[in-house]
Amino acid sequence: MAPPLYRGRFAPTPSGPLHFGSLVAAMASYLDACAHGGEWLVRMEDVDPPRVAPGAADRILHTLELYGFQWHSPVMYQSRRGAAYCAALAELQRLGQVYRCICSRKTLTENARRGVDGLVYPGACRALNLDTKHAGMRFRMPAGRAIFDDAIQGRVACDLVTECGDFILQRADGVYSYQLAVTVDDAEQGISHVVRGADLLTSTPRQIALQQALGLPAVRYAHLPVALDEHGDKLSKQTLATAIDAADPLPALKIAACFLGLMPPAGLANPDEFWRWAVAAWPSRIARPVRGYRPTPCNS
Ligand code: GLU
Repeated sequence: MAPPLYRGRFAPTPSGPLHFGSLVAAMASYLDACAHGGEWLVRMEDVDPPRVAPGAADRILHTLELYGFQWHSPVMYQSRRGAAYCAALAELQRLGQVYRCICSRKTLTENARRGVDGLVYPGACRALNLDTKHAGMRFRMPAGRAIFDDAIQGRVACDLVTECGDFILQRADGVYSYQLAVTVDDAEQGISHVVRGADLLTSTPRQIALQQALGLPAVRYAHLPVALDEHGDKLSKQTLATAIDAADPLPALKIAACFLGLMPPAGLANPDEFWRWAVAAWPSRIARPVRGYRPTPCNS
């Protein structure tokens, strides 16, 4: 059977329970997949052991289930994907796209300038050809621009060298970076569409550069605007980081829908009814791109 034309995913980092911010991302990617008749996959981004909270992955899956999300099995765990990341890194090395870097965080902070997302690596180790064992592995960013049409943000263009710069693929302690893992895994899972928060918009050019270097298929992106409170301010970490109530899904589902600009009607009695309504309402939402928006206060 031919693979579906649409494959979306939700890729939480299991550093704690599912919180409101991730519910919004999960809901948007799920609704977009369902509304396109596609599949929705879940991936645990547990690539960085110190960030993982014991038991959090299972709790997130359990909460998603209680909230009525249905995903295509199996769930992917980045902690089990070391061999794939190692192979991708070896391929990039073969292509001459990787070099070892021994710069400390302190050296970087002192010498690097700010780019679109954090510091742009100033290139101290780029031409040194180090073969030091305890070193990070850095991607040699090719010259050029990443240009993509984001379904929500519109056309995004980024100069790879001046705005992003060379970035880490594997840390000196052996941990693979989010950028490498997510790129390899989106391809492995056959993801065609990524819907996620705009806080990751600045990561996308790096992932596109990696896809191109590794000859992986392009992905379509939609980056959700950051939700604002009634004063037009970004929601505080406190608000977004509050764990959602696993035992009572409907209120949080409705509030998350409001954040996405949907207007849940009064009288939705349970998650099943909610999802039936939301999948039908979603296409008109994504078709109205906005740059920043205020969550509509929800009374029901
Ligand atoms: N693991 C990331 C997070 O929890 C999301 C990564 C992605 O969607 O690409 O913020």
